[in-house]
Amino acid sequence: MPSEVRDIKLAPQGEQKIRWAERHMKLLNRIRERFLVEKPFKGVRLGLSIHLEAKTAQLARVLHSGGAEVAVTGCNPLSTQDDVSAALAQDGQITVYAWRSSTPEEYEHHLSQVLKTRPQAILDDGGDLVGLLHGKLSELAPSVWGGTEETTTGVRRLRTLAQQNKLRFPMFAVNDAQMKYLFDNRYGTGQSVWDGIMRTTNLSIAGKTVVVAGYGWCGRGIAMRAHGLGANVVITEIDPIRAIEAVMDGFRVLRMEQAAPLGDIFVTATGVRDVITEKHLKLLKDGAILANAGHFDVEISKPDLKRLAVSQNAIRPNVEEFTLRDGRHLYLLAEGRLVNLASGDGHPVEIMDLSFAVQALTLEYLVRHHDELKPGVYSVPKEIDQHVARTKLEALGIALDELSSAQRAYLEKAG
Ligand code: NAD
Ligand code: SAH
Repeated sequence: MPSEVRDIKLAPQGEQKIRWAERHMKLLNRIRERFLVEKPFKGVRLGLSIHLEAKTAQLARVLHSGGAEVAVTGCNPLSTQDDVSAALAQDGQITVYAWRSSTPEEYEHHLSQVLKTRPQAILDDGGDLVGLLHGKLSELAPSVWGGTEETTTGVRRLRTLAQQNKLRFPMFAVNDAQMKYLFDNRYGTGQSVWDGIMRTTNLSIAGKTVVVAGYGWCGRGIAMRAHGLGANVVITEIDPIRAIEAVMDGFRVLRMEQAAPLGDIFVTATGVRDVITEKHLKLLKDGAILANAGHFDVEISKPDLKRLAVSQNAIRPNVEEFTLRDGRHLYLLAEGRLVNLASGDGHPVEIMDLSFAVQALTLEYLVRHHDELKPGVYSVPKEIDQHVARTKLEALGIALDELSSAQRAYLEKAG
């Protein structure tokens, strides 16, 4: 079936973006060299749902160079870059179903189109493909050997399905590989969230009070980089251990009700709905900025914002001004969707190179071993994590010490 993209004429601009990403994705380039020779995906149909921008396009091409037939869509209605999807679709080698600002119906249609190519392996980000394969399109599940999941919330959903004995095929928790979450969730989100907020608002971060909801892997990266930019950082948490970590890292920890009147910029990164709701919105300062870096558009309650507002006005790209009855103005970025991807290019290239190296190698592992795997949630094999780390060090020209035999014996001594 032909690709469905917004405007194929945008392809030259998208191709430049992909070339730039390719130049900096050293690990994926090495993997591609091997895939071109070994063709581990020869004749295998792959279905991908992940933010469709330049780095993802490069991943799709690398998988294709390994012999796969690749169909790809986005995983968020606002993160697809139309020039990139045009470039990827242009030569007809990869099938693309995605455009930016899709309606909920179009978004689901594009996911369904990918599934209708009958993929044997899937790459999911957030669980939408898996959701359809266990709901509306469950008749397509038997031909799926398995897949990989890119993000925290998607993995949580898979574990719930598995606990209920409903998961129909093996899924690898790529998010939980060390070479993924330690770098992508922390440093990737840390940089790209501020990139997105700064591009969108053109305001300074220094001197502002930034409230970060959630001190998980994403939250700590966002807080660390806000501190580095000169902000006063406040954390809200529900987990006592993570709250103490935030305190020991030098941040104030408050309840959201206490933080609401203090914050200039709020960033949610919890994966949970209703983190900022009416009771908080009523306490916010005039001019407060609200952004989400967690999951979908549910962490900041848009229904509550709309109910409290007398008017709503798009005053800059990706900035919506809500005027409340008492005259205060609140600003919601990127419709409450992932601010780093909807108003930026997402994580930096070198970070996605790590995550996507883990993805490519785990998909290869799945395809080679699918016969032996039962339905369930699997960890990425340790060797893949280690291999990606070592290849990254090599690419950086960094050498490690090695244990001598005496040191090894010393470590293994029982008494
Ligand atoms: P995590 O589990 O490490 O952290 C989430 C934290 O939020 C936990 O410490 C939890 O205790 C806390 N929390 C939960 N409910 C809360 C509440 N109501 N108030 C305050 N804190 C609360 O997860 P993570 O890896 O940091 O991912 C967080 C979310 O971001 C997930 O939805 C994930 O899918 C998404 N994510 C986004 C990006 C991105 O590019 N923007 C990147 C990676 C992950
Ligand atoms: N689909 C959901 C899930 C969150 S996506 C949603 O849109 O709300 C979070 C994931 O996006 C992260 O795990 C990260 O690996 C991925 N990501 C971040 N920057 C990216 C980029 N530039 N390209 C592709 N994926 C990216």
